[in-house]
Amino acid sequence: MQEHYIKSDIKGCIFDIQRGCLDDGPGIRTTVFLKGCNLRCSWCHNPESFIREPQLGYDYSKCMGCRKCDMVCLQKVHRFKGKKHEVDFKKCTLCGACLRVCETGAVTRIGEWMDSDAILEIAVRDKKYYDKSGGGVTFSGGEPAIWKDFLLSLLKGCKERGISTAIETNGIGAGDSLFEIMKVTDLFLLDFKLSDCDKHMKYTGRGNEDVYRTLELLNEAKKDVILRCPIIPGVNDDEVHLKTVQKLLKKFGCICKAELMPYHSTGSGKWAKIGLHYSLNKLKSMEAEEKIKLERTLFVSEGSGI
Ligand code: SF4
Ligand code: SF4
Repeated sequence: MQEHYIKSDIKGCIFDIQRGCLDDGPGIRTTVFLKGCNLRCSWCHNPESFIREPQLGYDYSKCMGCRKCDMVCLQKVHRFKGKKHEVDFKKCTLCGACLRVCETGAVTRIGEWMDSDAILEIAVRDKKYYDKSGGGVTFSGGEPAIWKDFLLSLLKGCKERGISTAIETNGIGAGDSLFEIMKVTDLFLLDFKLSDCDKHMKYTGRGNEDVYRTLELLNEAKKDVILRCPIIPGVNDDEVHLKTVQKLLKKFGCICKAELMPYHSTGSGKWAKIGLHYSLNKLKSMEAEEKIKLERTLFVSEGSGI
């Protein structure tokens, strides 16, 4: 039987859709990555999500130096000094000319405008797997909550199709729209990056007052929350921060569990591909044993629920 849903042509910018995900909430999930973020975390592994619009990417490891991009670019974005290929990202108008002539895929367009119906059509393909595994769709980013109307149309569209919903949020983007988002979101994956407000400001560009406020509101509304805690060596791998996480677990009944997410350097190379400098380039990925040690000392021994 043909299903009839309310049509929506609200558009947003998406930089990835991953099906069959196992790490963004329970069960088998489709994760939709919305472009645009209101924070600038120093360790971000998705810096291509910072700005809301599509943008140029350049991967020097794929470039064979043929200079075809330079020949077709009217904005003089591509410059060659000897064999060195420099890219002036700010001048790019995304006309697409260099993308068409580059044979190696060294230049790419990051992000596409999509309407919510097109995304929901992809999401619904795996509904039988969601139903069997207790999964659903997770909206991530960037910060999905900065797209209020677009995000709401996606969440409502999922509900209309009987699909469970989750959003991964930094707790700062939603403002008053959080109340509307809560009505159509089953699970919140809430980032808890730094317990100290000044450090939060230093490493993300914003203080953390709204994170605590969001947690209070989610608790009052009895929503399910998973606290996601990136652990960055030398930034927040200290006892004070982890003890704060422990206190939050005890205080807020809405938190089902906390997930420690050890720093991994795999995303660091993405910064250069969009013309940004990565300031933590000396930081090494954390070993799995270090994560286990942190969990043992601070949670299991105290019986706090990881
Ligand atoms: S997309 Fe157009 S403006 Fe941007 S670098 Fe390529 S040719 Fe130049
Ligand atoms: S067209 Fe592609 S491979 Fe050739 S120089 Fe430009 S980026 Fe490199």
